[in-house]
Amino acid sequence: MIKKNKETHASKKMYNRARQTIPGGVNSPVRYYAPFPFFTAKANGSKIVDIDGNSYIDYCMSYGPLILGHGNSRVIEAVKKQISNGSIFGTPTEIEIEFAEIITKSVPCIDMVRVTNSGTEATMHAIRLARGFTERNQIVKFEGCYHGAHDYVLVKAGSGASTFGDPDSLGIPPDTIKNTILLPFNNIDAFEKTIEKNGDKIAAVILEPVIGNAGVILPKNGFLQAIRKATAEKGILLIFDEVITGFRLGLGGAQEYYNVKPDIVTLGKIIGGGFPIGAFGGTKKIMSLNSPIGDVYQAGTFSGNPISITAGLTVLRQLTDGRKKMYDVLRKTGEKMMNGLREQAEDAKVHAQVNGLSSMFQIFLTDNPVNNYKDAKSSDCNKFQRYHKILLDRGIFVPPSQFETCFLSTAHTNEDIEKTIEVIGSALKEITRD
Ligand SMILES: *Cc1c(COP(=O)(O)O)cnc(C)c1O
Repeated sequence: MIKKNKETHASKKMYNRARQTIPGGVNSPVRYYAPFPFFTAKANGSKIVDIDGNSYIDYCMSYGPLILGHGNSRVIEAVKKQISNGSIFGTPTEIEIEFAEIITKSVPCIDMVRVTNSGTEATMHAIRLARGFTERNQIVKFEGCYHGAHDYVLVKAGSGASTFGDPDSLGIPPDTIKNTILLPFNNIDAFEKTIEKNGDKIAAVILEPVIGNAGVILPKNGFLQAIRKATAEKGILLIFDEVITGFRLGLGGAQEYYNVKPDIVTLGKIIGGGFPIGAFGGTKKIMSLNSPIGDVYQAGTFSGNPISITAGLTVLRQLTDGRKKMYDVLRKTGEKMMNGLREQAEDAKVHAQVNGLSSMFQIFLTDNPVNNYKDAKSSDCNKFQRYHKILLDRGIFVPPSQFETCFLSTAHTNEDIEKTIEVIGSALKEITRD
């Protein structure tokens, strides 16, 4: 039996209050959906509970950080203990070293790492570092890849930028993005031609090795390898933005999974253990260019603060201790979910593609296999909105956009997955019926 949720009067009232003083009532645009988002009271494990008392199985998982689920008890304990010694010092601490040591040991391309406060900052500094290192200005990015909300990369950027009209935001001077070359994902030919022609001017190629900000889009066989080869030949730095995939596809992220080593990697989300964070790392030679030992400026008042580091460290320790087991469980859960969704889509005779890898998945409401941003954009977003609403009514919370990723955590149970597959099946039938 699929139970319908109760009402959302309290959220509606709260939203009407919020939008008076907060643009759109939300502090990040993707959190809004029509007619109003639910407001959260609390969350634990795989469940999130709204202020009307409705409980949802959560696949949004705060857009990626919560690989161990909401409210991991060890993180809560560790943070409580740390906070009683102070929340921020403006001086270095030992836990920052241990944190850096776990990261350098886990991620193949990182000898040295610097912590920031968000993924946006991490990619901004990674790009500056690459420009400083190569003394070149241009960068290449791919359609549908999101690298945070800063000027150089907010061009066909996927994520919230895809749902909310023009990806090119107002307020970005054309001069700022004239050094950003935009290419289609998974098109080796277009990439090699661009490198052939412009390679000497290009400082860096930045990409999400697995796109998680246009739904999930996997790299085709050979795509990452071709990029690695062409960039190496021209002295271009390769930046993998692993803010989502880092410590999600395995301890070494996508670079380990696909066995392709970038020059610089950006991390975020999971490594903060549910607190704000970002990081970028690479070889000693490249990273040594950062101030104070080098001439590329980079800084942050809250960077490496003991709360984010403690929380992150507590999660990374659990992941490294549980190494094989946790990632195996996530992969199996992901496969069960994706197979279930494919069966349900077929059963409902709905035009749908299920993309995913390990604990990331998305269903695209389109006929076309989704291998790039253009394919993703062929999805029926009106249908997706109705799908989203039906799931909410039945106690399942997926991100409110076709161009986001659903996340599994180690807290999701078999029962969660089975219920979800059943509910999604009924939702797919409903949206095709009328
Ligand atoms: C979320 C995300 C970012 C931005 O991180 P914030 O912490 O939101 O600034 C950058 N790159 C990718 C791939 C992301 O998914």
